[in-house]
Amino acid sequence: MARYKAHELEQRWQQQWAQDRLYEVSEDDPRPKRYELTMFPYTSGDLHIGHWYAMAPSDVHARFMRMKGYNVLHPMGFDAFGLPAENAAISRGIHPYTWTMDNVETMRRQLRSLGAIYDWSREVVTCLPNYYKWTQWFFFKLYQAGLAYRGKAPVNWCPNCQTVLANEQVVGEGTCERCGTEVTRKDLEQWFFRITRYADELLDFSQIEWPERIKIMQANWIGRSEGVEIRFGLEDGEEFGVFTTRPDTVYGVTFMVFAPEHPLVEKFTTAEHKKEVDRYAEQARKQSDIERTATEQDKSGVFTGAYAINKLNGERVPIFIADYVLMSYGTGAVMAVPAHDQRDFEFAQRYGLPIKVVIAPPDWSGEDFTEAWVEQGTMVNSAQFDGTPNEQGKEAVADYMEEKGCGQRRTSYRLRDWLISRQRYWGAPIPMVYCDRCGIVPVPESDLPVLLPEDAEFRPTGESPLKYCESFVNTTCPACGAPAKRETDTMDTFMCSSWYQLRYASPECDDAPFAKDKLEYWCPVDQYTGGAEHATMHLLYTRFFTKALRDMGIVAFDEPFIRLFNQGVIVIERQKMSKSKGRVVNPDEYVAELGADAVRAYLMFIGPWNQGGEWDDRGIKGIARWLNRVWDLVLGDYAPQKPDEASTRQLRHMTHRTIRKVTQDLEGFRFNTMVAVLMELTNYLGKVRDEKDVEKAAWDEAIDSLLLLLAPTAPHLAEELWTRTGHPYSIHNQSFPQWDAELAAEEEFTLVIQVNGKLRDRVTVPVTITEDEARELALSRERIQDYLNDRKIVRVIYVPRRLVNVVAS
Ligand SMILES: [Zn+2]
Ligand SMILES: [Zn+2]
Repeated sequence: MARYKAHELEQRWQQQWAQDRLYEVSEDDPRPKRYELTMFPYTSGDLHIGHWYAMAPSDVHARFMRMKGYNVLHPMGFDAFGLPAENAAISRGIHPYTWTMDNVETMRRQLRSLGAIYDWSREVVTCLPNYYKWTQWFFFKLYQAGLAYRGKAPVNWCPNCQTVLANEQVVGEGTCERCGTEVTRKDLEQWFFRITRYADELLDFSQIEWPERIKIMQANWIGRSEGVEIRFGLEDGEEFGVFTTRPDTVYGVTFMVFAPEHPLVEKFTTAEHKKEVDRYAEQARKQSDIERTATEQDKSGVFTGAYAINKLNGERVPIFIADYVLMSYGTGAVMAVPAHDQRDFEFAQRYGLPIKVVIAPPDWSGEDFTEAWVEQGTMVNSAQFDGTPNEQGKEAVADYMEEKGCGQRRTSYRLRDWLISRQRYWGAPIPMVYCDRCGIVPVPESDLPVLLPEDAEFRPTGESPLKYCESFVNTTCPACGAPAKRETDTMDTFMCSSWYQLRYASPECDDAPFAKDKLEYWCPVDQYTGGAEHATMHLLYTRFFTKALRDMGIVAFDEPFIRLFNQGVIVIERQKMSKSKGRVVNPDEYVAELGADAVRAYLMFIGPWNQGGEWDDRGIKGIARWLNRVWDLVLGDYAPQKPDEASTRQLRHMTHRTIRKVTQDLEGFRFNTMVAVLMELTNYLGKVRDEKDVEKAAWDEAIDSLLLLLAPTAPHLAEELWTRTGHPYSIHNQSFPQWDAELAAEEEFTLVIQVNGKLRDRVTVPVTITEDEARELALSRERIQDYLNDRKIVRVIYVPRRLVNVVAS
């Protein structure tokens, strides 16, 4: 018998499939459509096992749906813009385009070795002009719709990467996500997308089936809260607003805290305190928002010498500045109620400020608080509201303030507009021109794409190389023809990935971002898979993007991805893989040695897909041995000697229950138990082969089913064995097997339990019960334990499908 040479046959089949265009899909297909998408990889260099972990199981699912009778689109492409390419250009003198396309080449080859059903004729690469032309076109559309605007904003700045960082890219105590350098702040004119306009709709998850955890992360990120904006007075008659969700505590305000950069601070700070206030503000400006608001940060502040007036009770309270209040959140000023907010409580203790209880805890008898009371209670020291339960008080105080004109109900969001400007070269240029006469003028649609110049110089100056590229910067105004300057910032790469799923529908389309009929056929995506780390960035941005396009009449659906599944992380030696620490698994080596099918099956077997697992060389070798056993079983001879009806029926039962379990597991992304049940069937078939006691037809049914069930997981091996056993090519065009409910049903029998040969108990058990399970069950029965009492068990006899006899003395 021929030996299983995984790598050789895998390469052969991959070639054959490509030659036959087996996985190319068309819209002209009678089957129902199904769009299954995996997050496309960033062109970082080469494919590591984490990529495989994201891609192999999702390919198995897509293959399964294909065999279930769907016209499955499962495309692949590359997220190709971004900083690393530019850094490579600076440090190694390679042009970002060359670096990126070399990586694409390598990764494409590695992705082919996976044996997935990617339709490569639909590949998209975001850094190519035929793609970014449309990224620019979308920018233009958003601008026309009033969803793109320019504004000055403090940005997080990494002095090492020499770039602006999004808040999400600032990690820990204000360090750069990429390099760990301390982040500072800088003011720049930037482009923003008005994602906040969609805050409420983004909180509506009713049309999508996403993991609860992702929905919660998005909801928290959007951070909608209902409250009141209260007007407080200053001594010179001016007013300012603060937003609070606790209007019920307004009588407990004992001081105010302003953000150091609040424009009123300069006005009201007294001469006596000016020096100290200025020094503190200067210090605060150096810190990032993250550092300033970190919970472990010391809550310090400085008194300004000024006082605010609480219009409800006329009280005069001191005004401080503190860095933990941010100008970019709320109104840049907060009312402090130390008795009912822990941060205010600590601040009040530190600066000897009064702590005034206005919400009495149940059974409170007037003693001082040792910490803030943030639970429910009854309003006290609150004028006419005394005695009101505080939840009711929130409404009552809000009504009263609205009536008196010193406050107004408002909804506040934590979500900020999306800053999309990047001061770098390797991104889609923002298609805008600045003209001295006309101001900001968009590049007309017919002039797109605004191409990246090839002759830009890459220097570690921190400014975009585009800024110094005269041929790029100098242009003429599209409106008046006068000399003008181009925008030199490029777009956040999350803009490129906000619409890539639409491009796969018709990547060749050159007069629009997509052909409308094809888009309508495929989109939205039915099943999306990828990492949970994208919850509040990519997965939120693309939802916003879809809704904005819908409102412009460009797409006809509300959500980009109907279902979402997040895979976990593959670890090695209990830690995340790390190139620098030498903890890496290079999939290429395993593909060459054991085959792609073994790597695929092992990654699915390693643990529940949403939880991840630990890579272990022994584990993958076990999987390779299993696939070898399948090879031997299928290609070995089977000639029944004395077929009996019960054994035949039992094999058929095993076959059909396996079909049922594999189908259900694949539907639920339970790949690990799916592989386990296939192994179980393989073992069972091994026993049958040795016993030779089932009819040939049942044996053949079992073998064919095993191959069909295995096809999504080990597509090459299944194809090879399918062909070798005389079936028509290709197994991947076959239907997924269906189970017979009656055969798949668990059969049961009555297990008789004896003690010293005498019947003592009976219990109904499934026929699949193992000897160990039967013994354990028998000994654990209460009636048997009573009979055994203190007697010593000599031995336990098991007669399969009949009885357990416990021999005791
Ligand atoms: Zn950095
Ligand atoms: Zn002009």
